[in-house]
Amino acid sequence: MLNTLRSIVQDVAGAGSFREQLDLLVHNVRVALGTEVCSIYLMNREQDQLLFAANEGLNKDMIGQISLAVTEGLVGLVAERAEPINLNNATLHPRFHLVPEIGEESFHAFLGVPVIDHRRVLGVLVVQQRERRKFDESEEAFLVTLSAQLATVIGHAEATGDMAQLFAQDSAPALERADAVFRGVGGTPGISMGTAVLVHPPASLEAVTDKVIEDVSTELMVLDRAIESVRDDIRRISEQFAASLPPEELALFDVYLHMLDDNALAGDIKDRVRKGSWAQGALKQVIHEHVRRFEAMEDSYLRERGADVKDLGLRVLAYLQDLRAKKVHFPDDTILVGDEVTPGMLAEVPAEKLRGIVSVRGSVNSHLAILAQSLDIPAIMGAVDFPVANIDNQPLIVDGFYGEVICNPSPQTVEHYQTLMAGERELAEELEELKHFKGVTLDGWRVGLWVNIGLTGVGRSLDRGAEGIGLFRTEIPFMTKERFPSEEEQRTIYREHMEAFEPKPVTMRTLDVGGDKALSYFPIAEENPFLGWRGIRVTLDHPEIFLVQARAMLRANEGLQGDLRIMLPMITSITEVEEAMGLVERAYQEVLEEGANVKQPQIGVMIEVPAAVYQARRLAGMVDFLAVGSNDLTQYMLAVDRNNPRVAELYSDTHPAVLGALREVAKAALAENTQFGICGELAGNPIGAVLLMAMGYQVLSMNETNLPKVKWLIRNIKRSDARRMLARVLRMDTAEEVQTFMHRQLHKAGLGRVLPSHHH
Ligand code: PEP
Ligand code: MG
Repeated sequence: MLNTLRSIVQDVAGAGSFREQLDLLVHNVRVALGTEVCSIYLMNREQDQLLFAANEGLNKDMIGQISLAVTEGLVGLVAERAEPINLNNATLHPRFHLVPEIGEESFHAFLGVPVIDHRRVLGVLVVQQRERRKFDESEEAFLVTLSAQLATVIGHAEATGDMAQLFAQDSAPALERADAVFRGVGGTPGISMGTAVLVHPPASLEAVTDKVIEDVSTELMVLDRAIESVRDDIRRISEQFAASLPPEELALFDVYLHMLDDNALAGDIKDRVRKGSWAQGALKQVIHEHVRRFEAMEDSYLRERGADVKDLGLRVLAYLQDLRAKKVHFPDDTILVGDEVTPGMLAEVPAEKLRGIVSVRGSVNSHLAILAQSLDIPAIMGAVDFPVANIDNQPLIVDGFYGEVICNPSPQTVEHYQTLMAGERELAEELEELKHFKGVTLDGWRVGLWVNIGLTGVGRSLDRGAEGIGLFRTEIPFMTKERFPSEEEQRTIYREHMEAFEPKPVTMRTLDVGGDKALSYFPIAEENPFLGWRGIRVTLDHPEIFLVQARAMLRANEGLQGDLRIMLPMITSITEVEEAMGLVERAYQEVLEEGANVKQPQIGVMIEVPAAVYQARRLAGMVDFLAVGSNDLTQYMLAVDRNNPRVAELYSDTHPAVLGALREVAKAALAENTQFGICGELAGNPIGAVLLMAMGYQVLSMNETNLPKVKWLIRNIKRSDARRMLARVLRMDTAEEVQTFMHRQLHKAGLGRVLPSHHH
């Protein structure tokens, strides 16, 4: 069963058009279950009707011609109830509704299952048989499982408009699809227009797209070079193991080499290149074909060989992509597009050319989104239906306010967005003059408005009026290198920022890798990286990395007036803080002994996990400051992966539980008289900033992009009013309630202009 299921899903997903997918689906299901009839009905939401969309066994002429109201018939009942209906004689059911043109009167057995994606019924899958019999449990389970897997295929067709095309009568001319809109979540508020540049992750066959080439001979040469390099590698590895492996194991390497011969994989790949495919695409197709063939084998040993083929494919791909990497050309209006755009890829694009980002994976709170924000680059994350493979070089509009990306925009759309962009620019210019003012409320309450630093140059954040650095994400300079940066390299980078901010305080976070932040030269492969070896856990296990970094921070601050604050990420226990403080002290003593004129740094703990909230008072007693990392705190409190678009709607940093935790941290820090602030995205969100200020947070550290708006807001509100709002908010049950209430309050107070704008 499992194999049949898998091969149907693969077949359907791999078919060309949506029409072909539907036809294949009904055909395969009919064969698999041995039924006389299989149909699929698709929900036309606008008309609340189910279209007879694909079929085998009934009157095919009616496909696309007949629709049933949802209140009509058994198919409608399946959709209405959103659960399977299994009957041995459908004609006796009160909801049976005969549509004579379809010709189903002689079929008795009926099994219909709904196709549901994201809680919505998209269609109904039906099998029917003449015989009066109930489909058995395993048949029902099969259809339910299949339909759950196919829901994404159909959901995709809905998002891309292919489904709507089916609803438009077959006779109607195909619609010109200008303005294809795809949804994700807005990573950075803002709008931009530009040209798509597709980036590939390091060697992943799935991400390789199909492309047609003209220069076959160059492509063949490139392919030959890549294959030859892989052969060299294999020979080298084989020699290395020659002494230590038994001959039968060593023979495996020969098998590998043979697989790369012209009469095996390489030949097949070349054939495809000769037919006009680029080498990477040809490689992908051939490898997938072979892997599928191996995986279908009965013999478990042979099945495993599929993995070897895949491994070989990846090795060749790695060389192919290296050969090509140098050729990537970034136009002046680059919109970086990819299955999973990473901070590393971002760093490759010259800053002045980057206009926007669209990533199929990731969410508002992934580090990529945060980096994009600090660069003020409109970004769309989690655009799951975005057809990355066919988008290279196309014009795009990225609307980060609404989390929409528009391909192929019509001239009217372009004009509309140009007007909006001009409006945004105006507001930004107006707020620019605030840079010389401090964060003070109308009734005189002082809040430090600091900045989070990652990739950006120093100048911009000062231009926007930052009063200090509240979070220096040191992992960013680590990510853009090919090895760990040396102490001196680190010192240089850190000092540049400290000098620019002098005499303002600078908060340096110790290396926070793991989770979604990987170093290419220090790979960490884990099932659950966000619950794994991450942040302080890594650096305490590698004191050599920690000590070098602490020394670099201390020495970078030598002779400067500004306070150096060292901050520890992902703290979950008192012991970790004690150990880390011990290491900082050691680094400090060493640097002193070497004759440097350094001051004792302040030490702070990040509150990023629920455990730290419950020990906040104790932690506050140990260190100089607390800083809440609300991005991770939200992720861990709500058990919602900050990168996963499927649960992005559940991720809410104004969830009452999160606000409650923030309030607890504030109370703990106040009780210990320890300075406390926040450096998660919530601080840069106007609603968040008001609530945090009301709670007493002394430092709000945020992306420089949000800083002017937040400053304007703080300077135009009274803390007493903010506290009244907070008191109400703390009694609310849901994040939605909080959002609605705060929106209304801020609008009423005439402060709505800094809230996310409403375009549509
Ligand atoms: C946070 O978790 O809120 C935080 C500031 O750290 P990062 O986003 O870098 O994980
Ligand atoms: Mg964090």
